Amino acid sequence: MPSQSDCVFCKIVAGTIPSTRVFENDSTLAFLDIGPLAEGHLLVIPRDHYERIADVPSELFGAVASQAPMLGRALLEVTGAEGFNLLVNQGRAAGQVVPHVHFHLIPRKTDDGLGYRWNAGSYPAGRDAEIATALKHAVTKR
Ligand code: AMP
Ligand code: ZN
Repeated sequence: MPSQSDCVFCKIVAGTIPSTRVFENDSTLAFLDIGPLAEGHLLVIPRDHYERIADVPSELFGAVASQAPMLGRALLEVTGAEGFNLLVNQGRAAGQVVPHVHFHLIPRKTDDGLGYRWNAGSYPAGRDAEIATALKHAVTKR
């Protein structure tokens, strides 16, 4: 099982530092984020250490992600939230601080003040087709 001795989430998996666990099985652990954006803010992680989603075996990724509906239902029931954000920060540029793949499950209520930035852009003529073609080639290579 991949594990990294200086990784805070590996330490949580190993139980060498405390966490407030709410769910676990063979592959997956869910616990309260120590710095919650809202009450009930959960982190859902594979027990195994992978820094990048791209390196996680698909089956493991699926196993971890497959808990999101169940955890989401629990979160809505317990917190009274109207929705949640299911979020992965992948890479430093995207805000990843802890280098162990994790999903955030963040309960949301209308006007909760957390905000949401979605600065939608648009493609110059033809660029969407170029990008889509390049992506199709890249996807079929894998
Ligand atoms: P990210 O920016 O996506 O890497 O987020 C890492 C998250 O891990 C942050 O929301 C932190 O509050 C949370 N975190 C860091 N250390 C701990 C810990 N020991 N227990 C629970 N959550 C933690
Ligand atoms: Zn780790």
